[in-house]
Amino acid sequence: MAGKCTIIQCIDYRTQIGLIKLTQKKNCLGQYYLISVKGSSRYFINGREDDLLDMIGTAGTDTVIIIHHEDCKSYSIKNPIEEKTTQFEDMRKAEMIIKKAFPEIKVIKLWAKLDEEKTKINSFQEINN
Ligand SMILES: [Zn+2]
Repeated sequence: MAGKCTIIQCIDYRTQIGLIKLTQKKNCLGQYYLISVKGSSRYFINGREDDLLDMIGTAGTDTVIIIHHEDCKSYSIKNPIEEKTTQFEDMRKAEMIIKKAFPEIKVIKLWAKLDEEKTKINSFQEINN
């Protein structure tokens, strides 16, 4: 059964395109609530957990999609591997916070790779752990 999604993503303009298509693929029919904050889920995991849970609870969705992206200015990590590792860790922390409060909600973690010019998303990689 299709259900509505909540997307958590960065404020970065390069990561805005393609979200409707993405939620169609993820069985949410292009209908989604959008939580757009600096650094995506990182914004919530150090003291703003209640805000995150309040937004997800208000939306009443059954799927949360967490999107982080490379070359994120909120992280400002120059080493691409370190940047990825750090952001993956933050996505996992956010997932645990969400699952603890809403065990029935499905959490999908996506890593957005940019194109060569770093102007827009080239592809999404789903993170499975
Ligand atoms: Zn960003």
